[in-house]
Amino acid sequence: MEAKTKTVSAILNAPAPHMVGDGFRVHNFFPKGYKIKMSPFFLLDYNARIEFSARNEPRGVGVHPHRGFETVTIAYHGAVAHHDSAGNSGIIYPGDVQWMTAASGILHKEYHEEQFSKKGGAFQMVQLWVNLPAKYKMSPPKYQEIKHNSIAKHTLDNGSGNIEVIAGEYNGTKGSASTFSPLNLFNARLNKEGKAYFDFPAEYNTGFVIIEGNIKVNGTEIAKADQFVYFKNEGSIIEVEALENSIVLILSGEPINEPIAQYGPFLMNKPEEIQQAIDDYNQGRFGYLDE
Ligand code: MN
Repeated sequence: MEAKTKTVSAILNAPAPHMVGDGFRVHNFFPKGYKIKMSPFFLLDYNARIEFSARNEPRGVGVHPHRGFETVTIAYHGAVAHHDSAGNSGIIYPGDVQWMTAASGILHKEYHEEQFSKKGGAFQMVQLWVNLPAKYKMSPPKYQEIKHNSIAKHTLDNGSGNIEVIAGEYNGTKGSASTFSPLNLFNARLNKEGKAYFDFPAEYNTGFVIIEGNIKVNGTEIAKADQFVYFKNEGSIIEVEALENSIVLILSGEPINEPIAQYGPFLMNKPEEIQQAIDDYNQGRFGYLDE
């Protein structure tokens, strides 16, 4: 059988932004912005490129809990420092990825890195919430810091650019992060007129965030910086042509077909598990972290 094109469902503009703490000005593409089916990806907050003025006291978001999923933060401009109650900390710079598995529960805080804050400048980030299958929701927390130079890279033919495989697999190149369900997360860094092809199962939920530039998808649809390309659950092959130098964040994953119960920073399957998370948090069972 001949492989079929995975067709575009919609090209979505970034919804109006809101602040997370005072450090992140994010456009929520889903689940609030657009009610699209993107499981295992539960949430996409996109901090489009903005300029922060210099400030001695770093902006950010203070100590808060998470349970039942993973937060994945990808930096394009600026620098973010992270600390959590499992004792993990790190700083991500442009190109770096922080993959934090909250699972049974952590407290963490996310702030602009001190030197970046003092100088100010361009800031652009993505944060994804990746859901966990029920059987892993209460497993121990985990932290993967993935530096840009350690990300597995597939070089495209004809000087088209390269595909950084953060997780999953691209043409035999395996991703750097380990995941709890099958998913692909790539940064495609394409040169003007460069082409790349992707092949994802029809049932995988798939979308592109255009971080920089301007692309043509499947020879017809045009998407520009700060838009989200949402695909149908039909066909498998996607063709991308860069109309200028472009960076595209590519998400594709097998849906987790399990019930969802969400309340703020907790993402579980049943309402009673949410109540348990609230009780555990109030009882201090998420550990301790200095403000
Ligand atoms: Mn958080």
